[in-house]
Amino acid sequence: MGLQQKHPLSRRHFCLCCMTGAAFAATGSWLTPRQAYAEARGLVTLIKDSAASSPVSAYKLRGNVTVLEGSGGNIAVLTGADGKLLVDAGISVARSQLTQALSSLGPETVTHLINTHWHFDHASGNDWLHSVGAKIIAHENTRKHLSEIQRVEDWDYNFLPSPAGAIPSEVISANRTLKLNGASIELKPYRPAHTDGDVSVIFGEADILHTGDTYWNGIYPFIDYSTGGSIDGMIAASDANLAAATDNTIIIPGHGKPVSNTSELKEFRDMLVDIRDKVATLKKAGRTFEETVAAKPTAAHDAKWGQFVIDPPFFTKLVYAGV
Ligand SMILES: [Zn+2]
Repeated sequence: MGLQQKHPLSRRHFCLCCMTGAAFAATGSWLTPRQAYAEARGLVTLIKDSAASSPVSAYKLRGNVTVLEGSGGNIAVLTGADGKLLVDAGISVARSQLTQALSSLGPETVTHLINTHWHFDHASGNDWLHSVGAKIIAHENTRKHLSEIQRVEDWDYNFLPSPAGAIPSEVISANRTLKLNGASIELKPYRPAHTDGDVSVIFGEADILHTGDTYWNGIYPFIDYSTGGSIDGMIAASDANLAAATDNTIIIPGHGKPVSNTSELKEFRDMLVDIRDKVATLKKAGRTFEETVAAKPTAAHDAKWGQFVIDPPFFTKLVYAGV
């Protein structure tokens, strides 16, 4: 069954990672083409407005781990007497819905926040979460990107430096294990994949893996070449995710249906490899980007993976750039 049947997509699922695709999709529905160009930057506002009013849903997993969906990237929460630990912070304007969802999981304050990478739909909640007591931990490149003006070419957007409270106070560049609420929480940096600051988080006893945006469940992923991402990095990260998981592991993707498993992850990896090979063959044969899109190298996968805002031509562009 397709993602769209089980899990209806709506405007609330738009996220910054999908912004170029959203602009494209929007031209037919809720913006005229002229407006789409004029308001390319206004999409951030649209996405924020959408996140501000969208509901946040909670799915209890196991071992006191819950996943929250509805504010940008999927957020994992570990609860317990030591305080709550969050994996990703969502979009800042969803603060009230997130606060409500977090309260429903218990009275403890948020003491720790791990960013899987620097993108707005995963880290723009950093400032308010820090203001209520969260220590922020991330890859050293995530701190760098949050501290500086950051241009993302594919979004045609310049992000301003984050406020001081939003900057991670603790950075990692190698594996690191935390102990909290009786759980072992392992942070593992990837080689550059979706960005150059991706980190996975493994809840050891509960056997749960949060992949950040190295894995999008059932939808073509965004790849951020502006900050070190690449298709080959995404494939290598998928292999690392598969090596870290067993058939029993619950996998939380950065985007898409928030509770996943190794067989769905394997399908994602195989889709990336197949499209990468087809696009590389066309590019090596001298095809331009337009000719490559016209050859439809994603055709076998579009019905399943191309129904979200990263559409087949845009995903082809992201692969073509890296082969
Ligand atoms: Zn992202």
